[in-house]
Amino acid sequence: LAPIRTLLDRRPELPQVACFDTAFHRGHGALADYYALPERFYKEGVRRYGFHGLSYEYIAQRLPQVAPNIAKGRVIVAHLGSGASMCALANGRSVESTLGFTALDGLAMGTRPGQLDPGVVLYLIAEKGMTPAAVQDLFYKESGLKGLSGVSNDVRELLESADPKAAFALDYFVYRAGLFAGMLAAALGGLDAFVFTAGIGENSAPMRARITEKLAWLGVTFDQDANAARKSLISRKDSRVAVYVIPTNEELMIAQHTLELLSTNRGTSPKLSTAAQ
Ligand code: AMP
Repeated sequence: LAPIRTLLDRRPELPQVACFDTAFHRGHGALADYYALPERFYKEGVRRYGFHGLSYEYIAQRLPQVAPNIAKGRVIVAHLGSGASMCALANGRSVESTLGFTALDGLAMGTRPGQLDPGVVLYLIAEKGMTPAAVQDLFYKESGLKGLSGVSNDVRELLESADPKAAFALDYFVYRAGLFAGMLAAALGGLDAFVFTAGIGENSAPMRARITEKLAWLGVTFDQDANAARKSLISRKDSRVAVYVIPTNEELMIAQHTLELLSTNRGTSPKLSTAAQ
């Protein structure tokens, strides 16, 4: 909020638009949205918001052009970048996500651990005497691929490294991606397509191959040549579940929402607006 307030102060005439990365997940049902905590926490906002919504919204918007036959189906989108998550789309709408209240849950990420037993947090604070700030630092900056490998948070460097811990970190990432794909397939009651996007998903053929291997039991027949050739469709024609690579474009979504909001409110001179709520 600090930059928003500063800008309001210095340039009060300038419209400001906030595009929330959670907005696309707002249609989640209660079962996906709640933590099993007393109701009062939900009421004050302790909910599974989900993130990378701008990315998933873009993919949902692209699907009818790229793959019209499955755009209305059951699709898992894997946004695999330095932050990583997966989203279950049913008929182009988000129904479940691996991220929750913050961007720490779900898949292992570059420097974040992903899913963690809350008991670990209690242990770090109560037994190890770590401050909340130190725990926050550990979870946002020192964990995930970086923490596991001790080498790097960057998949390119891990793929090139001869260190067995680098290989373990990648194995871990792939294993967890497979687990969460299973969870989202369960949420969807089956699967018609799987989409890779973001830094790792768009650029790393070896990581796509390894993760897709974990989807064989869901009905994926992988096309190695198409994957190596950086094609958009990387499953075989006879694959029961289609696998695509679709580059994301979060900036375009922000631009679209901003344009839409500002043209709707033209003349009313909004000081602060929220897009896609
Ligand atoms: P993003 O956050 O979407 O920009 O993704 C950044 C991450 O993508 C980097 O930290 C790398 O781990 C990964 N990445 C980008 N290019 C490649 C590549 N060619 N091979 C493997 N990983 C890549």
